[in-house]
Amino acid sequence: MPSSLDLIERIGQLIRFEQREIGVREDLHPIHIQVLQYLDKCNRYSDTPLALSHYLGSTKGTISQSILVLEKKQLIKKVPDNKDKRVVHLKLTPKAKKVLLKIDEQIFTDDLLDKYSDHVNNTVNKTLQSILKDLQTRNNHRTFGQCSSCRFFTKEGENKYRCGLTSEPLKLEETVKICLEHEPSK
Ligand code: SF4
Repeated sequence: MPSSLDLIERIGQLIRFEQREIGVREDLHPIHIQVLQYLDKCNRYSDTPLALSHYLGSTKGTISQSILVLEKKQLIKKVPDNKDKRVVHLKLTPKAKKVLLKIDEQIFTDDLLDKYSDHVNNTVNKTLQSILKDLQTRNNHRTFGQCSSCRFFTKEGENKYRCGLTSEPLKLEETVKICLEHEPSK
């Protein structure tokens, strides 16, 4: 029987393979698709070139090149930060959302995980989260976890949330986004 890690690696390879296939049709490299997928998942503190290079483990040069290509293809647009004009945020365009939808439909068929019970899905999810956390801790990587699992996350009332690090309010939809500054709660 293959080890669990072999299986995880194989699933990852197959997903990358499918991404390459779709990328060829859309004239995009795998890294371009990874950039779009990251920007779709991350919060407003993490949609910067620096956060991207941390998340993908790529050099700033590679990230800059990818941003140039994606801008040219009108898949992302740069928006200067309100407070610090040296910082730019990378926003997905409606065209990029369509590309991501196509990728989701082709790679992650809706019923792939639906056929398992909630109990099985939860157990697999918890196990994978634990493996990921150990790997990140051992190698000193940022966690890039979901906002609601962060030690700075505060629930102030019904649908009222705040980031304890920036002191800014968070919308409900932001609580499930991933963040560069995420630190797991103890
Ligand atoms: S609570 Fe944590 S994860 Fe959420 S925005 Fe603040 S630092 Fe990021």
